[in-house]
Amino acid sequence: MNQTTNQSPGQTIQSKLPDVGTTIFTVMSKLAQDHGAINLSQGFPDFEPEEALLDRVSHYLKTGKNQYPPMIGVPELRQAISSKFTQTRGVDIDPDTEITITSGATEALFCAIHSVVQTDDEVIVFDPAYDSYEPAITLAGGKTIHLPLTLPDYQIDWDALGSAITDRTRLIIINTPHNPTGAILQERDLDRIAGLIENRNCYLLSDEVYEHIIFDDEIHASAVSHPVLRHKSFAVFSFGKTYHATGWKIGYCIAPPELTVEFRKIHQFNAFTTVTPMQWALADFINDHPQNYLELPAFYQHKRDLFRSLITRSRFKLLPSRGTYFQLADYSDISDLKDTDFANWMTIEKGVAVIPLSPFYQTAPDTRIIRFCFAKQDDTLAEAAKIICAV
Ligand code: PMP
Ligand code: GLN
Repeated sequence: MNQTTNQSPGQTIQSKLPDVGTTIFTVMSKLAQDHGAINLSQGFPDFEPEEALLDRVSHYLKTGKNQYPPMIGVPELRQAISSKFTQTRGVDIDPDTEITITSGATEALFCAIHSVVQTDDEVIVFDPAYDSYEPAITLAGGKTIHLPLTLPDYQIDWDALGSAITDRTRLIIINTPHNPTGAILQERDLDRIAGLIENRNCYLLSDEVYEHIIFDDEIHASAVSHPVLRHKSFAVFSFGKTYHATGWKIGYCIAPPELTVEFRKIHQFNAFTTVTPMQWALADFINDHPQNYLELPAFYQHKRDLFRSLITRSRFKLLPSRGTYFQLADYSDISDLKDTDFANWMTIEKGVAVIPLSPFYQTAPDTRIIRFCFAKQDDTLAEAAKIICAV
């Protein structure tokens, strides 16, 4: 793409993100809509949040919770999050100095990156990487260092990471459970990262939006409860994933006080805050229905297992999915098309929209793999599976 875009005679926009187009999630969802395809591409449920949660939103909408909340988030919600971490992980997090409610995890990622990354600083990401990381790094003046996760299990190459860390490395970004691969990091992986950054002026951004969508009795390894990383990390979460409400765009960041101070400087002049009635409703729901997030692994494990069993007869080869609501599938027995073309073909010709993997890479490996989202009603999965089995 060109460095510059001619707008009209005499005017030239110098793009700050010359290589960035429209995000693949928007592209594929639009294609699905245009062609009436079943949308297993962009990650969102095709079912509703819990009735009890919606009731609390209605309640607050009608009882005067419609003006600006505090910039850092409604105190009751920050307290509910803090109590949840005490109960589930035995860690004390100060709701006033360590928790900030944001307009989705996306805003939290952006603010965290801008809090610590200065011009020419390096930030390490692991490919395939979620697509919002690099543009935020670029806008902060940083340089993104892409390290590929190793195939076939999408694990960190520790030697490569050790060699990539320099005095310029200011931030490492991890994501567990991992979008798009469904891989997870274990506690011992966090220990290794901690060992590498403990004595450096380097921080961790831990994207944990799928913290509760983890399978086969695995325990989510969180930076928040790691003895070293707890003091060096921004940990980012999303209520959109946990409560089937991706359109609400509410997330939060947990970081130690000195990092939170910088984080809030950015947040207050970016989004400033996020929607009031949903914050109040979520506070009540977290307190009153803890079983809801505790049951989420089983809820989604059922969908993963159902979807896998429904398409096991297909010509797609299924990779493991240890967490998230995504399932990777190798289509090399079906087609030689590159993944973006194959995803378009699946959507337009076959009627099931999927996500290609190459947009998550700086240099994509020579694989034929696409991503399905199984956060769908069982009937939707069954209908899609019929098509997938016939491909
Ligand atoms: N990180 C990852 C890995 C995600 O998959 C997503 C969204 N699906 C986000 C961040 C952004 O979450 P939100 O919608 O709350 O902004
Ligand atoms: N994170 C979602 C996905 O991976 C999409 C979010 C978005 O569209 N911005 O599908």
